[in-house]
Amino acid sequence: MATPLLGQMMAAPLLIPSLLTHAARHHGDTEIVSRRVEGDIHRYTWRDAEHRSRQLAQALRRLGVGDGERVATLAWNGYRHLELYYAISGMGSVVHTVNPRLFPEQIAYIVNHAEDRYVAFDINFLGLIETIAPQCPSVQGWIAMTDRAHLPASRLPLLCYEDLIGVEDGNFPWPSMDENTASGLCYTSGTTGHPKGVLYSHRSTVLHAFGAALPDAMDMSARDAVLPVVPMFHVNAWGLPYSSALVGAKLVFPGKDLDGKSLYELFEAEGVTFSAGVPTVWLGLLTYVKSIGARFSTLERTVIGGSACPPAMLRTFEVDYGVRVIHAWGMSEMSPLGTLCHLRKHHRDLPAEAQQHILEKQGTAIYGVDLKIVGPDGEELPWDGKAFGDLYARGPWVLDRYFRADTSPLVDGWFPTGDVATIDPEGYVQITDRSKDVIKSGGEWISSIDVENVAMAHPEIHEAACIAIRHPKWEERPLLVVVRKPGSTLTREAVLAFYQGRVVKWWIPDDVVFVDEIPHTATGKMLKLKLREAFRDYQAAP
Ligand code: ADP
Repeated sequence: MATPLLGQMMAAPLLIPSLLTHAARHHGDTEIVSRRVEGDIHRYTWRDAEHRSRQLAQALRRLGVGDGERVATLAWNGYRHLELYYAISGMGSVVHTVNPRLFPEQIAYIVNHAEDRYVAFDINFLGLIETIAPQCPSVQGWIAMTDRAHLPASRLPLLCYEDLIGVEDGNFPWPSMDENTASGLCYTSGTTGHPKGVLYSHRSTVLHAFGAALPDAMDMSARDAVLPVVPMFHVNAWGLPYSSALVGAKLVFPGKDLDGKSLYELFEAEGVTFSAGVPTVWLGLLTYVKSIGARFSTLERTVIGGSACPPAMLRTFEVDYGVRVIHAWGMSEMSPLGTLCHLRKHHRDLPAEAQQHILEKQGTAIYGVDLKIVGPDGEELPWDGKAFGDLYARGPWVLDRYFRADTSPLVDGWFPTGDVATIDPEGYVQITDRSKDVIKSGGEWISSIDVENVAMAHPEIHEAACIAIRHPKWEERPLLVVVRKPGSTLTREAVLAFYQGRVVKWWIPDDVVFVDEIPHTATGKMLKLKLREAFRDYQAAP
């Protein structure tokens, strides 16, 4: 066989620091604004971020952090967290973002599983750090992300972040390396079993950042001021710290205050044009904005994902506030972006209602992600918008195997997402459920998401979860768990009546129970496992 003719372009590996150096050189004056846990607002630029990241890499080298070793972060969204992202990956080590909302035992498990050498933390997590420290033998030092003046007293010998970098000159050329080198580690929140580690690479991260920024994805540019509400400890804040550098956007970090008032004030003060988060945070924001009769003066669009965006929320944003919603689907194992929802050219002439219907779906795959749906016998199902099956994905930013796992979960080279979906002839994906949340009634499936979406359209319902309860004849039937809005006296009968004509008869829940609160996972999703346990022996009222 003849030798292939190779292209003659530069072999420049796709490395994460190249995003940062690009932003520093070409958008050097663009701001990064952070609400700090210390209480004030901090401002600097991409140029400053790049310089301090090099100082930090020097400091970590001096502490003995080596290639491939893991350094953990337990922190909110802020500029120091950004520096840790770039410095740790950039020097050839692995930034392991830990979710501080997990139980301390889970955090200790994750830190030990990853064998983290250092843990950098926001000072308000000191209590948590002191709790887990005795259980984490691999950790050689705990770095408080603050300056000397704010360093809290502790029985642990803390390292001070600003002191560490203050003695470095920043003369640290980012090393070249194989683009497949590991760069980041994130454990899935694990609604069942132990959390599992997803190990990203420089290549997967840079490619994902490219894909995420595209017009039919997050539609990002240097004209944006981006406020990631989605935490940097949850799948790299959906890649926003990387794609913002790639396009040279302004970044606004909200710190720990994610309530409606704090977010709204920051949106307005910093001219935020684009944001991203899970539906639960938007519930809080919309409730606040409505209560004070305010408008968004600069916010143009927001990505909503992580769990299904209720159509009622989409409508409120789009119709009442003129903010475009980009519904998105993804998961930790997919870096996380898989699909995002936008209208196509020929949809422009459709009536508003029909357009809304399309926008309620989770969207179409971005380049870099390939999808298929599969039936019970492993056969590929048609893209007709009706057949639903297990959703599989593959691509350069999709997981191949979990960190330290012996076997790969792939089936014929495809990753089984654990979600159930339909795909229509134009490629729009609609997630009907997670496979474990589907309600199997008399051999047919009921989409818990669809049942919840109807409830969420009721003006007196704050939040609703639909779960399966056992049934002697049908095997499973839907139960609706509802949190009423404050002051509401909504009844079971009124809720059930609301379903008439909105879904097929046999999808209507068998019963409705009212609770004060629905439990959420550490990433803000409804914890249906807990609800299923709580209502395990529930008997529907006749
Ligand atoms: P974890 O399972 O640990 O919570 P992820 O945060 O990665 O991990 O969650 C991914 C899951 O969230 C997906 O598999 C899917 O079930 C759900 N999900 C994400 N986005 C959406 C969406 N837009 N609509 C419905 N479900 C979604």
